[in-house]
Amino acid sequence: MLWLKKRSWNFWRLLVQTLSFALLITIPLLNYYLQFDFIQGWYQSISFGDLWFVSPLEGLERILVTRELYGPLLVGMALPVVLAFLCGRVFCGWICPIHYLSELSDRIRRLVTGKKQIKDRWLLPRWLLWIALIGELLLTMIIGAPLFVFLSPPGLVGRELMRLVFFNTLAIEGLVVVAVLLLNLITRRFFCRYMCPLGGLLSLVARRRKLRVVIDPTSCSHCNQCDKACPLGLEPQQGGGEYSQCWNCGACVDACSRGSLTYRWGSDEKKTQKTN
Ligand code: SF4
Ligand code: SF4
Repeated sequence: MLWLKKRSWNFWRLLVQTLSFALLITIPLLNYYLQFDFIQGWYQSISFGDLWFVSPLEGLERILVTRELYGPLLVGMALPVVLAFLCGRVFCGWICPIHYLSELSDRIRRLVTGKKQIKDRWLLPRWLLWIALIGELLLTMIIGAPLFVFLSPPGLVGRELMRLVFFNTLAIEGLVVVAVLLLNLITRRFFCRYMCPLGGLLSLVARRRKLRVVIDPTSCSHCNQCDKACPLGLEPQQGGGEYSQCWNCGACVDACSRGSLTYRWGSDEKKTQKTN
């Protein structure tokens, strides 16, 4: 048990990500080879028997397209929304297959090149994420079709795995995932920082979240290790762990050798949630 207690957040995150990805692979295998249908779908829409969970963005798109409030859909969206409301973008940091594949490709690149990190070449304003969200919802309403349901990179990973098992083939849309991973070569998590409408929606819901990474400025030595570790470039040394866009991934907490960064639960009356 002591061994478990000493594990870093990076260890736990990788474990959760790996299990979440393994689930994505296991579901179609169970469905196809064993006809075990108790669990179906992927992280856009996943069901365990009668219990159904829906990604908040895909749910919102359906509501905008059909202009109907369908009860089971609202119930399915509830848990992910409550999770984001309380804990922020933990789906991004701990579950999303795009972040997982990005972390794996980072590790492979580090092994091959020996370079710890590549330079973030394009640093754009963080509010672009809000534009991505608004633009995607407007487009959905204009064309009258749930765009993200078909083209969401996190959803595409699950859909492609399903297609591979059921039909032994991959679809051309899978190239979107490849493009998103290649964008990491320009700037770490470029798509997640500036382009993902789901990330934008979760950030919006997370504005008053309870779980945050806070810094104790009195013990901070300004070594910048946490800033270097943050995949989103949020500068946790300057309080970036309190931005609504923070994933609560814990990478900065692990990077700080002085223990100046910690997770904190609950609201701090003196501090207001930063939203940029
Ligand atoms: S921003 Fe989008 S692609 Fe990136 S981790 Fe979050 S849901 Fe996944
Ligand atoms: S500020 Fe820390 S917890 Fe938030 S995304 Fe960056 S590294 Fe992760």
